[in-house]
Amino acid sequence: MEQKKRKIALITGASRGIGKSIALRLAKKQVKVIINYNKSREKAEAVADEIRKDHGDVAVVACDVGNFEQVQGMFREIKEKAGEVDILVNNAGTTKDAALIRMTPDDWHQVLKTNLDGTFYCIKNAAFDMMKKKSGRIINISSLSSFYGAPGQANYAASKAAIVGLTRCLASEFGPMNVTVNAVIPGLIPTDMTKKIPENKMQSLAAKIPLKKLGNVDDVASLVEFLASESASYITGQVIVVDGGLSCSLGA
Ligand code: NAP
Repeated sequence: MEQKKRKIALITGASRGIGKSIALRLAKKQVKVIINYNKSREKAEAVADEIRKDHGDVAVVACDVGNFEQVQGMFREIKEKAGEVDILVNNAGTTKDAALIRMTPDDWHQVLKTNLDGTFYCIKNAAFDMMKKKSGRIINISSLSSFYGAPGQANYAASKAAIVGLTRCLASEFGPMNVTVNAVIPGLIPTDMTKKIPENKMQSLAAKIPLKKLGNVDDVASLVEFLASESASYITGQVIVVDGGLSCSLGA
């Protein structure tokens, strides 16, 4: 009997945190997982080892998603070594918080470059093949900051709000080619990124969560797994929040 070809999923920023959890989950679903990282090579290789130990199919590729030439090179490498990307998860993200008065143009551009330009560059490199095959899944990771006015996050909030606009626009543009585009908004999920949030702010936000517990990386990964699955084939252009209800109590 002919074996069904494994789908190929590229997860950006999968060396740690939410991206790592998404990679581990998709690898259990008979998907070939491509782990992208920028700086954390050892961590990315450790995620790949974990997947291999579990008999998963995995490759690791270094690339700064904010650099268009590097993104083109990453897609070329994936195509040569594995094939065309079927599932793209734009997860790589960064913060550089500061009150606007103190925020430098460099702080602004660094965050916009990784979070927004990186998402655009990856979609630009993946979309043509997906449209040609009339099949593809794009999942963009946004943030509650896109609609909740967190002070000190003008750059991050702008980048994540733009990802919502990009998602909805591309859902209309790519829908006729059977390529779905959705956004996931995680709530407060302890990772390296949230370590930068002052303890008192973290506690006051956590106290507002209706489900009375912080989220974890797997809460987000399970939603991404669903959106990447056949079961989600009629869902596109949606922005889905996984936050234990935090957005409701923030009035966002
Ligand atoms: P994290 O633990 O800080 O991990 C960030 C990941 O992004 C790392 O794998 C990092 O790779 C990668 N990355 C950063 N800059 C990159 C670049 N230029 N090119 C390629 N990869 C890059 O963060 P996280 O909490 O898991 O966040 C994952 C996503 O969820 C982000 O988009 C974030 O904005 C979003 N989010 C998180 C939360 C939360 O509460 N944690 C809430 C809302 C939204 P290297 O280590 O190799 O640099």
